[in-house]
Amino acid sequence: MKKYLILLSIISFVLIGAGCIYKLLTMPQVNNKPIGTNTGPNVVAVASPSSALSALDLYDDAVPLLDCDSIDGWTLDTNGIGTGSVDNGTIKYVRTVYKARAYSSVLSYTFPTIMDFTEKKILKFDYKWANSSNQLSLKLVSSSGKDMGGGLIGKDVEPNVWHSAVVSLVGMEFANINKLYIGNAGDDYPGWVDGEMTTLWIDNIRYIKPGKNIFGNNIVIQFDDGYMDNYTNAFPLFQRYNKVATVGMITGLIGGQLTGKDMLTAAQLREMSADGWEIASHTVSHTSMETNNESTINNQMGDSLKALQALGLTVKHFIYPFTRYGPLSRTISSKYYESASIGQPPYQNLLGGIETAYGATDKLLLRRMPIGKTTTIKSVKSWVEDSMRYQTLLILYFHDINDLGGNNSWTPANLELLLKWLNEKGIRTMTTTQAVNHYGL
Ligand SMILES: [Zn+2]
Repeated sequence: MKKYLILLSIISFVLIGAGCIYKLLTMPQVNNKPIGTNTGPNVVAVASPSSALSALDLYDDAVPLLDCDSIDGWTLDTNGIGTGSVDNGTIKYVRTVYKARAYSSVLSYTFPTIMDFTEKKILKFDYKWANSSNQLSLKLVSSSGKDMGGGLIGKDVEPNVWHSAVVSLVGMEFANINKLYIGNAGDDYPGWVDGEMTTLWIDNIRYIKPGKNIFGNNIVIQFDDGYMDNYTNAFPLFQRYNKVATVGMITGLIGGQLTGKDMLTAAQLREMSADGWEIASHTVSHTSMETNNESTINNQMGDSLKALQALGLTVKHFIYPFTRYGPLSRTISSKYYESASIGQPPYQNLLGGIETAYGATDKLLLRRMPIGKTTTIKSVKSWVEDSMRYQTLLILYFHDINDLGGNNSWTPANLELLLKWLNEKGIRTMTTTQAVNHYGL
């Protein structure tokens, strides 16, 4: 009980901004060692020396929330899950049974007092796995039992090495929070499989002070399928407003037509590429990659890559048709591409529809926000503003740009208003691969 009181008073001091204590507490620690000694691949953007974001920029703003070495308040939530254990401070969880349910929880911590996370929307914590193939989610639950959503952290990290993860919790007011859960990522993500056992350690959960602009006012804009009007209508606007985008081309339709609409030609793709746009693959024939058919995935991913490379293009990104993917396609995609985009997982709506890529995602399954006929400029602006406010990487994706009124289309007039507004706000664009590299995703 005494420990709780100490923790509570520390948090209280931090929250009221008590200067010197605050400074002391912000000394970054991993497992009682300075965070700078936390070597190995990192989920956050510290791996890229060219990044404008340095580790210190981020960690200087990390305020301790829970030091797992000093608490023993974790409990195992067996709601739909197998067995586990709490290992004296650091959290150890042994998974034995997988019962599929999105957002199943495995470990929970009940705060000694009801917490207000309104200003703590970016949580950071350290973790290590006994193996490297898992994915993890973190979520918050209100005192009334309402699931407030959360975020994912990466996978494929070096096993048995401490890593740091940053999870952005956006789009909701996280007041009256009672519990923190750390668990598996749910059905929508390849991760734990039936019967797989692993051990997980969690430590040093902290939050990042709001106001730090990790992403430096950058967003990513993509166009799916490769309609010719991306060149005739969108490209000149992007040039006028000094912006770039990524086109996901269906390579079997280069110079062809789709539902009566002209598609980009090889010469147009080359010209856009030469002007700073990224050309990505969107398969050969727009086939769903959700399939378990290995040769279909290999053919669609490999042949489309070859087709674009044959045009002299450098291709590093893949965009999933219909935003559908599966565990097999994720694995195979890494043979051909450095990163890949999907759509919005269902839970993402809980987060107000905002991409939570930063440190919280898998670069082979980047999440994006769709823009179509019914999407208002006001909505898009609010997503952009939220992504700046909550320091998440926002990826917007369009299809055709014209006045035909198709369900997936947006008008050139709206696109121009958006680009103009981005410039007024000082918001820049990056290609997808630039963002992946820049932020070390
Ligand atoms: Zn498509």
